[in-house]
Amino acid sequence: MKKGLAAFLVMLMMFTVPFSFAWSGPGTGGAVFAEAPGKSGSAFDQRIINRFNTDRVLEHMTHLVEEIGPRVAGTEEEVLTAEYIQAQLESFGYDVETQEFGIPNRVSGELFTSVSDEEFAIRVAPGSAATGEEGITGLVVEAGLGYPEDFPEETGGNIALIERGGMTFWEKTVNAQEAGAAGVIIYDNAESLVPVTPSLGGNQADVPVVGITKADGERLIGEGITATLTLSELADQVSPNVIAVKEPKGKPAENPEIVYVTAHFDSVPYSPGASDNASGTAVVLELARILKAFPTEKEVRFVFVGAEEIGLIGSRYYVSQLSEDEIARSAANFNLDMVGTNWEPATALYVNVVDGAPNQVWQSASAAAERLGNDSLVLFARGASDHVAFYEAGIDAANFIRREPGTANLEPWYHTPFDTMDKISESRLQEGGQLIGAAIYDFARKDHPGRGRSNEAPGRTGVLFNEDERLNMTHHR
Ligand SMILES: [Zn+2]
Repeated sequence: MKKGLAAFLVMLMMFTVPFSFAWSGPGTGGAVFAEAPGKSGSAFDQRIINRFNTDRVLEHMTHLVEEIGPRVAGTEEEVLTAEYIQAQLESFGYDVETQEFGIPNRVSGELFTSVSDEEFAIRVAPGSAATGEEGITGLVVEAGLGYPEDFPEETGGNIALIERGGMTFWEKTVNAQEAGAAGVIIYDNAESLVPVTPSLGGNQADVPVVGITKADGERLIGEGITATLTLSELADQVSPNVIAVKEPKGKPAENPEIVYVTAHFDSVPYSPGASDNASGTAVVLELARILKAFPTEKEVRFVFVGAEEIGLIGSRYYVSQLSEDEIARSAANFNLDMVGTNWEPATALYVNVVDGAPNQVWQSASAAAERLGNDSLVLFARGASDHVAFYEAGIDAANFIRREPGTANLEPWYHTPFDTMDKISESRLQEGGQLIGAAIYDFARKDHPGRGRSNEAPGRTGVLFNEDERLNMTHHR
């Protein structure tokens, strides 16, 4: 072929053929372009793709988001969600196991005021005092940034309203206590959909302390406004995990490798959690239904965990209960958390690996993407979801999550009351579900050389690291 013609063809390809990966990562071969647009994968991919039913996914999500609503760790709604998942898995023919585990004590409650009939969205400061069942009611007294001279005389026995900024939340709290405040409301100094969470630096306040948004704070500035804060200490609470196991084919293999497919079903307070994480929960349910029928060499465990949002409690509990033998047989964890947003910029499906290494999960997902002509995958160094628990046990693990390519931004309404079904993309649920399903099936259907974390995999150099993010990796997102 003549050079000129080749260059022309390459140029033509750039306009007509999508990149095979937004960032293809090392060790995935030299393919920069998908070989042909509209690829539909191998015969085994087709088994997943043909059966993947997005309507079923949307039905599960609608039940969680609109029938049950926010599914906060330790609440009845979280239990109802676990029961729904169990019933679905049983209807697919699985024997279902559940686990129950303790979660840390916390203070939670509500804020009502005289400016609205509606409850204000709050975040309770870790270290806040509780109020008792009747709550505390008082005048809302504006106290600037919370310097000692900012507190008017009527602060005593009332509720101090303090703006964020200038000093720590704990210093503001101490000053309010010294001025005699019976409670503290701190409002943000920047616009946000989510109330500020006032961190007290590990200190214990003598009075209730909550955070609200800037907009809500400004609503409380005025004469004669009253507020009632009711915060109770929740102790000895439990959360559930729900597990279904797909046995390997044939007579029970002696030491089958194990693949874990996981999603958390709890949400943060006030958030219906459509994207976070009814989306992952519903897709994993659908994959459990589809994969039930297909023989695999590996054992596949569908693990639905509670209490992710308060610190990955459910997944860490699950992993802590695995025997040494099970850990040794563990091949990989595919975790799904926030896979269905319709936020327009979130065109990429990120594959978050705690250390950013192109482990077996990344390898099987990127291979599936290549077979399917899908160009949406990005390998990224990030913890902040349940794959961390598996990674910590030495298991190849990754989280699949929709983000904006380049910036890695998430949709702005996650963890807010606006994470609702109208923010969900049916086509992205389908695209991600089919791709991840094809990757899991390909990985599970055959025995795999090498177990545990693929640290020694060839081509591991040039890993994408995000040092800032690694510091944050045990926090959510
Ligand atoms: Zn989540």
